[in-house]
Amino acid sequence: MEDKIMLSTKLHQAINAQVNAELWSAYLYLAMSLDAEAKGYKGVANWFFVQFKEEQDHARIFMNYLNSRDAKVELLPIEAVPSTWDSVLDMFKQTLEHEKKVTALIHNLAVIANDDKDYASISRLNWFIDEQVEEEESARDMIAATEAVEGNKYGMYMLDKELAARTYNTPSPLATAE
Ligand code: MG
Repeated sequence: MEDKIMLSTKLHQAINAQVNAELWSAYLYLAMSLDAEAKGYKGVANWFFVQFKEEQDHARIFMNYLNSRDAKVELLPIEAVPSTWDSVLDMFKQTLEHEKKVTALIHNLAVIANDDKDYASISRLNWFIDEQVEEEESARDMIAATEAVEGNKYGMYMLDKELAARTYNTPSPLATAE
C-alpha cells in the first residue's frame, strides 16, 4: 500500500480538461448575457451573468481539487463562443443542451474515478453530479417560463423583471474555502 494515493494521469488530464470546459461554459453564458443585454432584456442578462459567475466557480472548485491532490493545473486555450442567438427562448434551449453535455463529461470523470477506486475524487465528483441535476432543471424551468409568455410582450417584460432579481450564492465547496 502506498501511504499517499496519487491521482491517476488519466483522471488528472480529464479533470484538467474539465477546468477548460467549465471556463468555456462561463464564456458561453457571458456571451448570452451580453446578447440579452443588447436585445433589451436586462433581467435575462442578469440571469446569464449569474451563470457566468457560477461556471467560473465550478472551474475554481476543480482547480482547488487538483491543487489539493498535488496535481498541476494546466490552463488550455478557451475556444470562441457564438455571439448572437435568435431569441431568449433559443438561449435557454441552448443552455439545456449545453448542460446535458456537461453532465455527460462529469459522468465520464466519475467513471474514471470509479475505475481508479479513487474515493476522494468520487466524493468531489458527487457534488458536481448533484449540481448538474439542478443545472438541467433550472434550464428546463427557464424554457417553460419563456414558452409560457411567448408572443406576449407584457409577459416577457414581467419575466425579465423577475430574472433581474436573481442573486448569486457561492457554491458550498467554496463557501468555506476562501
Ligand atoms: Mg458548470
